[in-house]
Amino acid sequence: MHSTSGTPHFDLVGVGIGPFNLSLAALAEPLRENHSLEALFLERQPEFAWHRGMMLDGTTLQVPFLADLVSLTDPTSRFSVLNWLRETDRLYSFYFAENLFLERREYEAYCQWVAAQLPFCRFGTTVTRVRRAESGFEIAYDAPSGPALVSATNVVLGIGTEPAMPFEVSGAAPHAVLHSAEYATHRPRLRDLDDITVIGSGQSGAEIVLDLLRSGVPGQRVRWLTRSAAFEPMEYSKLGLEHFTPDYTRFFHSLREDVRADLLRSQGRLHKAISFQTLADLHAELHMRSFDSLYGGTLGLAGDTGATLLPGVSVTGGVWRPDAGGSVELTCLHDRLKREFRVVTDAVVLATGYRDRLPAFLDADLAQLIGPADLEHRVAPGVYVQNAEQRTHGVGTPDLGLGAHRAAVILNAVTGRTVYDLPRRAAHTAFDPEAAAERDPGIRIEVP
Ligand SMILES: Cc1cc2nc3c(=O)[nH]c(=O)nc-3n(C[C@H](O)[C@H](O)[C@H](O)COP(=O)(O)OP(=O)(O)OC[C@H]3O[C@@H](n4cnc5c(N)ncnc54)[C@H](O)[C@@H]3O)c2cc1C
Repeated sequence: MHSTSGTPHFDLVGVGIGPFNLSLAALAEPLRENHSLEALFLERQPEFAWHRGMMLDGTTLQVPFLADLVSLTDPTSRFSVLNWLRETDRLYSFYFAENLFLERREYEAYCQWVAAQLPFCRFGTTVTRVRRAESGFEIAYDAPSGPALVSATNVVLGIGTEPAMPFEVSGAAPHAVLHSAEYATHRPRLRDLDDITVIGSGQSGAEIVLDLLRSGVPGQRVRWLTRSAAFEPMEYSKLGLEHFTPDYTRFFHSLREDVRADLLRSQGRLHKAISFQTLADLHAELHMRSFDSLYGGTLGLAGDTGATLLPGVSVTGGVWRPDAGGSVELTCLHDRLKREFRVVTDAVVLATGYRDRLPAFLDADLAQLIGPADLEHRVAPGVYVQNAEQRTHGVGTPDLGLGAHRAAVILNAVTGRTVYDLPRRAAHTAFDPEAAAERDPGIRIEVP
């Protein structure tokens, strides 16, 4: 760090420390050690915390452990999951477990272990303003000791995404209408209600339905509505996974904007669906509930599992009914039958995903310079984003498996040199004729 007119200056300031900026920090550490890059990362939470609202028992990462913060870029880094396991004396246990998928709470602990070794990651600091300055950018933040100011040549926004709420229900009690991001907080109360509606059939929706089926009070009705035509499994075939390679990202980036938008809409099974395991667990639960309803007699109507699964339904809005303890009345439309109906329920969990946004802390002058991300994830000169570029970079944008690669691309761009050598080709699939022609002499590209 050097200082211009009393303000500490850094080559790079990262805003937010989720997995993506933490990956960047871990890959930047060797440069900091040899004094070729001065970096600072600021995070508003008091410690590294990862989606605590969905930290449910037994839930795992959806990607193998090699998608840690560093390995797919630098397998020799000391910040790998394997090194964490060794340092915490669990390496043999992990080896014998023969399980590629860390539990979510293990992943959070691993990230905390990495963050603790990076003194330039500061927690409990909320960035309040970023604006252009002579030295690049001026970053104002609130620290535990009070307001502070630094400047930077480059800024990397890693602030994650925000819960997408498709509608508001004014007046509703906080536990009665909530986003899946807050599920764990309200879980004790939700488990005791008679009737819960979960909306959305991504992984979070499925995990919440499963959790309620396993832990709700006897007789609780769990209703699961989704706009999707079916409760679909995640695409997990080996070649399907090649959509999560840098090769596909480059191809996607080269497409016209409207083509990209169409493609994203058609790729729900690559990023919005449910893991095979969770679907199997759900089915096993329903299967035994159907048995219990016949032979145990605790669930009401014979044969009724206490669960209603209804796909193809758009929920268009909701009204809070305060009488008799309060309930939510939802208006629903079965999309294909064009039939409207209502649902009356004690609580609604919106497992309706997340969206990126332009952060409010960018001052107006800087905000108006922000454009689509280029291949190096730059949205304006000196400003980079992580996980806000799905429209330009495709389905892999929020995927942890591409995090270490993107962080290295940004680091190479910021330093103007190849700090990390990146694979020229990562997929067997050639996504465009030019890529195929590089290895296949039978492919002739017509030059118009
Ligand atoms: C429940 C859940 C499970 C997931 N599991 C997987 C998975 O298994 N595999 C996979 O590939 N993807 C997964 N994802 C998708 C995605 O990769 C993760 O959401 C990941 O956390 C995104 O990382 P991030 O760094 O972009 O953002 P986040 O993890 O959201 O971190 C952003 C950070 O920025 C901080 N911040 C925001 N504003 C400021 C500010 N003004 N000042 C300072 N700090 C700020 C926030 O406090 C936050 O800590 C999952 C997503 C969810 C919701």
